[in-house]
Amino acid sequence: MSSARIWREIAQRYRLQGSKCAKCGTATFPPRSSCPKCRSSEMKLYLLPRSGKIVTYSLIHSAPDRFETNVPYPVALIELDDGTKITSQLTDCDGSQITVGMPVEMTVRRIREESPSGIIVYGYKFRPKLKMGQQKST
Ligand SMILES: [Zn+2]
Repeated sequence: MSSARIWREIAQRYRLQGSKCAKCGTATFPPRSSCPKCRSSEMKLYLLPRSGKIVTYSLIHSAPDRFETNVPYPVALIELDDGTKITSQLTDCDGSQITVGMPVEMTVRRIREESPSGIIVYGYKFRPKLKMGQQKST
């Protein structure tokens, strides 16, 4: 893998970097070289908002290799504050706490450990966004 590609992937993983069409304003994630809507190739890099809400979700009970230790884990389709939709794992909650329309925010978490090299891969996940005062419900 070239170093340019590695840095591009890091930017995507840690900052939710997508692209936006200069002609019609359509945002995509991950970034694309041409617009899925109007086919323009005038795509500009664009940082996506880090918060949104859950459109739909499901619990994954049979995970692909290297994700096995985490099952079951929730995966959601999330509509970000600007309307862009992305798919992400959810964290800091279990399946019974998740509801459609729930506000969520991005966080960076360990995704998996690559053995035997021991490289730990981090990436974005989303967690429930707490409302003001929600922690202190006595
Ligand atoms: Zn476009």
